[in-house]
Parts: sequence; C-alpha cells; structure tokens
Amino acid sequence: MNPHSPYIIAVENWDYKPEIEYAFSHLLRSLGINFALLPAHEIAESAWLYYGRNKPRFPASFYIPESEFFDLYFQKKLPSKEWLLSVDRSMQDVRASNVLEADIVAATFFVTSGYEETIIPDRDHAGRFPANRSLRWPGLIKRPLVDEWAQSMSKSFKFESHRINSRFAIALSHDIDSLNKGTLEALYDRLIRHPDRHTLSAIWRIITEHLQHGDLYDNLHDLVKNEKARDVRSTFYMLKKTGYSEDANYEWNEPSVLNWMRDIVAEKWEIGLHGSFFSLTDKAFLVQEKRELEQVLGHSVRGGRQHFLRFTIPDSWTTQSDAGFFYDTTLGYADAIGFRNGLARPFQPFDVQTRKRLTIWEMPLVIMDATLKQYLGLSAEKAYSQSTEILQSVRQVNGMVAVLWHNTYFTSYKYPGYAQVYWQIIDWCKKNGGTCGPAGELLDHYLARESK
Ligand SMILES: [Zn+2]
Repeated sequence: MNPHSPYIIAVENWDYKPEIEYAFSHLLRSLGINFALLPAHEIAESAWLYYGRNKPRFPASFYIPESEFFDLYFQKKLPSKEWLLSVDRSMQDVRASNVLEADIVAATFFVTSGYEETIIPDRDHAGRFPANRSLRWPGLIKRPLVDEWAQSMSKSFKFESHRINSRFAIALSHDIDSLNKGTLEALYDRLIRHPDRHTLSAIWRIITEHLQHGDLYDNLHDLVKNEKARDVRSTFYMLKKTGYSEDANYEWNEPSVLNWMRDIVAEKWEIGLHGSFFSLTDKAFLVQEKRELEQVLGHSVRGGRQHFLRFTIPDSWTTQSDAGFFYDTTLGYADAIGFRNGLARPFQPFDVQTRKRLTIWEMPLVIMDATLKQYLGLSAEKAYSQSTEILQSVRQVNGMVAVLWHNTYFTSYKYPGYAQVYWQIIDWCKKNGGTCGPAGELLDHYLARESK
C-alpha cells in the first residue's frame, strides 16, 4: 500500500457525506490510510471500498453495509442500544473477509460525535451529561470502542498499519481550584466526617505541617519538585477567582502564584486555563479569562479544561474555538472513568448541528481523581487497578489521553493514598513503554507524527 495516494471510497448515501467522511477519518487515519470519498453513482469502474445499502454494482475490494442510522435517526432520535451492541459484538469476532457484517461507519459517527448527548436531555446538578445515560453504559464506556473497531476492521480486511511503532502517551494534568483552605478541610474531615482512634494524632500532624509549610493545598512547589524527581512534566490549568464560591480562592497575580507560574513555564511545564464555572455558557467570561491569564503570564495560552468538567457537546467546543483555544481536554465523565466519545487519541470534534468538523483539538480525559474517590468511592488500591485497566486499553491502541489529579489530592489527610496513585500511574506508564508529559506538548508531537 502506498500511504500517499488516496484510496477511493464509494458512498451511496451522499446526503451524509460530512458525517461519513468524519467516521472514516477515525477508522482509517489512525492506521495511516489516506482516502477520498466519491458518490457511488458517479463511479463506473471500481473502488477500493464501498459503503451503502445495496451491494456494489462495480468491483470493490471491501464492502461495509449501511444501516438505517443516517436516513431514519440522524438529527431526530436515538438508535437502540441493541444496534450499538450488535455492531460491537460483530467487531469483537471478525474473521478475514472483505465484507463487514456491521455498519461501523454510522456507529463510529454516532460514538465519536457525541451524538447521543445532543438528543438525550438528562443532566446532573452541575449541568453535566451523566455517564449512565449513555447507550454505552456500563461496559462500553470503559473501552476506546472506535479505536478497537478500527483495529478489528484492519484485521478483517488485512490492512497493514503504518502506525505500529507509535508509543502510547498520557498527558499529566492538574486543575488548580484551591490553594488554601486545605488545612481547614483536613481538620474538618478528620474531626467531624471521619473521626477514629487516630484523629488526635492526625490533628497534631496537620497543625504541625501547617505551621512548618503553610496551608496544605499550597503544595504546587512540592508537586513540581516530585515530578522533576521522576523526570516528567505536566500541565496546570489555572482557575480564576471570579467571586463565585465554586471558583478559585487565589489570585493569578499574587506574587507567590505568579512567580511559581513563570518559573515552571521556564522549565517547560505548561500553564492552561481552567475555565470558570459560568464560562461554559458565557463566552465573554472565557475570552476575558484567557486574555487575563495571558497578560499575567506574558505569553499565549493554548489549552484549557472547564471547571467541574461542565461541558456541552458541541457548543462548548464552539465557544472555546471562538475564544481562540487550540485544544481542550475536558471531555470525560465526572461520574465515571472511561471514554466519552470512544476514542483514545486527540481528535477534531464534529458539530452535529452545523454538520461540520471543528478546528479545535480535543485530548480525551479518561481518568480524574475525584471520579475515583468521590463518585466511585474507591480505595487507593482499587483506584490504581481500575486506572491501569483503562490505561492498558489506551496502550493497546497506541493512544494518547489525559489524566487529571488536582493539587488537593496530594494531601494525605483527606484523600489517603491518592497522591501515591498518581505516582504509580506515571511509573506504570514508563514501565510499559509510554510517554508522559504536558498536554499541549504531547498534542504537538501527535500532530507532527500524523502529518508525516
Ligand atoms: Zn475545577
């Protein structure tokens, strides 16, 4: 195969060209296969692959049968869960053949575009889409479905991949919501919420630590020092103090914060914007916050993640694009670990309403500390084993995803053992041949590799 000349894909249902092209880009580009779509009725001689309801009337090396999704459901309603499960079942069990039994093109579009979230109205108390409303709940959200389907398809069609040697990667990131109140929260937690026979000695240690090092959440220097000791760097997403109680309790231009940001940027850590609570719905906030952070830092801010993981598909991407962001890394569930759009790699989102691919890049967020602890109630040991299960599936498809550890999770009183889970994940990544680093830098590497 010559990866430079495009392979012709004949498409019967040309009305849905943007959606079909988007799906094929996920199925084929990760394999390094370059393709072009043509309307089937304009092709007289042959095509490389045929996608349609009818059997091709000219020679085609491969055939994918089209389901009713685009004609009957698109922009109107939700397909059945069984439809999606049956696609996955048939892709789990592929044999060498030049015909697929399932419509992975429509299913890929359905999953990667976040289509279900544009149809299902349910949201939680913070306005977020609950993981258990997904058609992929519970089992399929834990797998990078589309990357796995692409691998199965290449096995069935016997494609050779041009991307075999790429390494999987984990973007390390921290949302900085709070730099104080850590001592108070630790005392409250040990005295009121979880008192036990160790409470008195814990209180003593908390107060001693506070007297020696200041507030327990004022730990950014230590965090960077510990990353440095392991020879990794990360991204810090900084939240603005807006006056709203859920937003930051520190100022960007406090000398201690400002000097720390400048120092770590000089050492190639990344600073991004953690969009404030209401910036999800008010673009003016996001624009203003980005500009302010850039003024404070003296350089541009390329990426961000929204506070509380508040994110509406597809509107939030449009808002971020308009505000000048190059990438976002909010796309994960607050209440579950896993893959919100079935991909374990950076991608350009698709706007289901305007039917266009957007220019912003999304780095999927697959694991957040608060999900493991607050939503799933896991011990540190279980948090680690469930995290590595997810990351193992990223590794198997040579993916690139983000994990999020708040600075507040590096204090041992409220979240015992959780700091260690972060360091163990880094050790696991390195031991298994992966790369860890700041989101923006990894994304640049990914795009440079893709454009080759
Ligand atoms: Zn936050």
